[in-house]
Amino acid sequence: VIEALPEGYEAYALSANSSYKLLAEQARRYKPRYIAITNEDYARQLGESVRDLDIEVLSGPEALTQIAQLEDIDIVLTAVVGVVGLDAVLAAAKKGKRLAIANKEPLVVAGELLTKTAKENGAEILPVDSEHSAIFQALQAGCADEVERIILTSSGGPFRQARFDQIENATVEQVLSHPVWSMGPKITVDSATMMNKALEIIEAHWLFGVEVERIEVLIHPESVVHSFVEFVDGSVVAQMAAPDMCLPIQYALTYPSRVAGIAKRLELDELSRLTFEKPDLGRFRALSLGYDVAHAGGTAAAVFNAANEAAVGEFLAGRIKFINIVELIEDCLNKHNVKTGANLQELLDADAWARDQVKKSISRHQRKSTKV
Ligand code: MG
Repeated sequence: VIEALPEGYEAYALSANSSYKLLAEQARRYKPRYIAITNEDYARQLGESVRDLDIEVLSGPEALTQIAQLEDIDIVLTAVVGVVGLDAVLAAAKKGKRLAIANKEPLVVAGELLTKTAKENGAEILPVDSEHSAIFQALQAGCADEVERIILTSSGGPFRQARFDQIENATVEQVLSHPVWSMGPKITVDSATMMNKALEIIEAHWLFGVEVERIEVLIHPESVVHSFVEFVDGSVVAQMAAPDMCLPIQYALTYPSRVAGIAKRLELDELSRLTFEKPDLGRFRALSLGYDVAHAGGTAAAVFNAANEAAVGEFLAGRIKFINIVELIEDCLNKHNVKTGANLQELLDADAWARDQVKKSISRHQRKSTKV
């Protein structure tokens, strides 16, 4: 995206967790001042592969926080799965940077803390998540107090029309065949359970400061309308584009300007129809849990997110069934005592607690089955 933009944009620091080969390749191509690898096992290989370049190599989890605070950086784009990147995001917010947020954790897990920190330090938070980018763009058609509701669209995932027994016994392979977007395995599973949309309700709530009651979900299998905003006068403003993440990434970088870029174009005359339907909350239990968690606030979303990540990991490893994912999350939420106004450490503790609970529930269940 940056390569295709006009002058004035430069990748100053790049990071990866373990993909050191790709990071080295990108370092050679884009010549950033810094590169950071969080998984220390790869630091040596990375250092060797860029030895001939004038680049500073940082490693370890704290490397992200180091680069996010660099004086010369204006925009920090974050796409770090899990809670590892939270400290870096908060550090960038304290420095008053523009934050372009691609992953859900900063706003889901630390939504209250992050939005407060950003406000106090004049940091902007811009969404890269396609639905939230759409809402952000549509919101510019009116004022904040003129918003009636926000409507998040969802492709419905691979089980939109499946029967309950098909969902119950879904294999990893069936779950990973997403109809529209090509994404990593974790997010594709989230799309099948609709946990993805549940997390996006929480994300929208914090990002736009809109009450949970005003956020709705609509299934839209064609994934052309990326979301809607309805205003008090009845006007509904939609953002449409070809499903291509290059556009939300670019808009977060160039806002408030729009420039020509590399995003795919929407061929309106090739669209035969656009369909919308209400989601079945009975079939997609994760969605109702998402609303409950958004209401509860505090540490609830940290638990919701971590329990999901742990359960999805277990499903992908073949240790639990597809339907167990949401059951485990719900069980975890029921056992959790929500703490409000949590600081970063308390959020991280809630995250660790939830992961541990998921493991314990599974081994308890396995012990029981062995006895039988
Ligand atoms: Mg999304």
